[in-house]
Amino acid sequence: MCESCVATIKYSPIARRSILQLAAFAVAGFAIAPEALAANAKAPPKPENVLSPEAALNRLMKGNARYVEGVSRRHDFKHEREPLSKGQNPFAAVLSCADSRIAPEYCFDVSRGDLFVCRVAGNFASNDIVASLEYAVQVLNTPLIMVLGHDACGAVDATIKSVKDGTMLPGHLPALVAAIRPAVEAVKDESGDMLANAIRRNVLLNVEKLKTAAPVLESFTSDKKIRIVGGIYKLKSGRVDLLT
Ligand SMILES: [Zn+2]
Repeated sequence: MCESCVATIKYSPIARRSILQLAAFAVAGFAIAPEALAANAKAPPKPENVLSPEAALNRLMKGNARYVEGVSRRHDFKHEREPLSKGQNPFAAVLSCADSRIAPEYCFDVSRGDLFVCRVAGNFASNDIVASLEYAVQVLNTPLIMVLGHDACGAVDATIKSVKDGTMLPGHLPALVAAIRPAVEAVKDESGDMLANAIRRNVLLNVEKLKTAAPVLESFTSDKKIRIVGGIYKLKSGRVDLLT
């Protein structure tokens, strides 16, 4: 864990989680300093980000509607630096593809400190990504996670070709193919466009994987403290269609 992350844990405002939850996180391997427990009473740097899961999703989708219409807000990056230097409380986490055409902060018209973004080609939940999202939920109080796929995804397309042809891709790409393969296998007998079907199924499978990721995300989901949803970003329109 980098120094800035440790500093974030130490000084992050942790307004709504109990000391017991922090202790559990420490047991899981994160160094929680006594100062972090004292920070429990601090006000979050972005009070407007303290939202219910439903309100967080509503805010995301309203931001996407502005982005689609080309009426995104002007963000005051300068004046938010000072409050964000003391902590963070993003209102949503997004697991997105690494594709350069997908930019979660742009497509949801949000500013710094609003989204906790994890990106990997094919937007699948590796162990590292699950751990990152656990941090967002348990330490930063993030109430919403969105798995965000997109149409014409090259990672999913490459996986389809590899599965169909039985070819081994070079370098580390086989690891990526192995992660996306279950979605491709699941739709191989479906009618319609195989790439679109696999992209959709990949999002749904990873939403389910996160919902059942014990003990942290599963517990927060079953207690309805967070929501985990899936969406598909449309390259031509910029619109995000919800799947779940
Ligand atoms: Zn992609």
